[in-house]
Amino acid sequence: MSETTAPSLALTKETIVSLDPATGEPVGEIEMTPVGLIPQMVRDAKAAQRSWGALSLEQRAEILKSAVPRMSEEAGRIGELLTREMGKPKPQGVGEAKYCASGITDEVDAVVAALRPEILEDDSTVTTLRFDPYGVVAAITPWNFPLLMVFQSVIPALAAGNTVLLKPSEETPLVAREWVKVFNEALPPNVLQLVVGDERQGKALVGSPIDLVVFTGSREAGKHILREASGGLKRVILELGGKDPMIVLDGADLDAAATFAARNSFRNAGQVCVSTERIYVDEKIVDDFNARLIEKAAGMKQGPGMEAGVEVGPMINRQQKDHVLGQIESAVRDGAKVLLGCHGPADGGDGNFVPLTVLTDLNHDMDIMSEETFGPVACVMPVRGRDDAVRKANDTRFGLAASVWGTAETAEEVAAQLTAGMIGVNQGCGGAEGSPWVGAMESGYGWHSGKYGHRQFCQVRTISRAAAKPSKD
Ligand code: NAD
Repeated sequence: MSETTAPSLALTKETIVSLDPATGEPVGEIEMTPVGLIPQMVRDAKAAQRSWGALSLEQRAEILKSAVPRMSEEAGRIGELLTREMGKPKPQGVGEAKYCASGITDEVDAVVAALRPEILEDDSTVTTLRFDPYGVVAAITPWNFPLLMVFQSVIPALAAGNTVLLKPSEETPLVAREWVKVFNEALPPNVLQLVVGDERQGKALVGSPIDLVVFTGSREAGKHILREASGGLKRVILELGGKDPMIVLDGADLDAAATFAARNSFRNAGQVCVSTERIYVDEKIVDDFNARLIEKAAGMKQGPGMEAGVEVGPMINRQQKDHVLGQIESAVRDGAKVLLGCHGPADGGDGNFVPLTVLTDLNHDMDIMSEETFGPVACVMPVRGRDDAVRKANDTRFGLAASVWGTAETAEEVAAQLTAGMIGVNQGCGGAEGSPWVGAMESGYGWHSGKYGHRQFCQVRTISRAAAKPSKD
């Protein structure tokens, strides 16, 4: 592990020097898009949209899918770059890049199936329900899944007939540039353009005459975007942060629950929107659960993502590390007990790394139990039965995901009482194929994926005519 404490990002004049968060070494440099260039890029996108949107759904699908062989060919290289730029373990970086290449085929097929016109008919009227493109989409994405978040925004938007201006995170512009470059080998000019920069470019895009903003990122930035977009009544899809609860009821398979808790608290160093951030365990079984969780966490190898066998990498940058350690320190000051890991900055690890940490003796007045942590911390709180668990799990402004562990019937009943958008019963939140990715309350506004998600990239139109009169014969 490196002693370096440099931030992973340095803005030098009009370039971004992207740094490896594990070592502090530069990974590469990229020119920022001048804000003054954005209006012309939007005009180019509008012009390109006329012919792109005029193609049939099937023609666009064919063009998008034609990118898959080249993108698959480059996925290993792009995945390694992802690991160096963002820090996650190499198998995960390469896996993400491979999915964002080969997965285009299935995703495009799903969009096509969702957007075929539907016919509605009653005694007097026949209506065709059409799913038409909005026009120009601004896709603004975060760094924690630097390609997957791009993929989820860009593929449905393009397949629907929109053109896209993509602004990836300033923390991971290099990997986004490579993905766009290879994709653009298959696309007509200006159908997909890359805007490189930070929130200044993001704000300029939102303020431009675009038609839809598809944003994935923090709640604060999401609220700002919603306000800015309201003037022009621009369409907005927001996928925001979370503070996901996990409930472990008496009767749960404790080993399965502890395995999930360790994986879902520490995967991607906790930098996952659907990380488990609060764990409520029935007081009768909490000691047993904690012992298993600590054992599993202690067995996870942490280090630079390029090193073999590493399961947990660093924080994306110094600022994120300081945020996580600050929450831990403040909780410990207010009475939290450290079962594993660190107490705060004093024993907070080298470079951008934060040791895997398990805390207990917590309460909901603590920042670490109410605001997103986005770090490798498992917070365990004992509860008195299911009603207490539900009350505590729902005591949040967020509503992204949740999971409930217990006997099948009881766990399902408890799941139905939770306010989150995506709930897993004895598993994580991922749904069957076709399920939407949806955050409730302050975790989202609109959603994507699945039939209804794909349709949010479109203007719905109805064209109606009189039904043919039944013949008298
Ligand atoms: P962020 O909000 O700081 O930045 C996200 C993107 O928005 C970046 O490209 C950034 O440059 C841009 N941006 C920032 N402020 C902006 C503004 N006012 N106007 C326009 N653009 C702006 O988030 P982040 O730190 O990159 O990502 C972490 C956050 O993303 C966490 O809160 C996490 O939970 C969330 N996230 C949510 C999901 C989901 O599906 N719900 C998925 C991944 C990440």
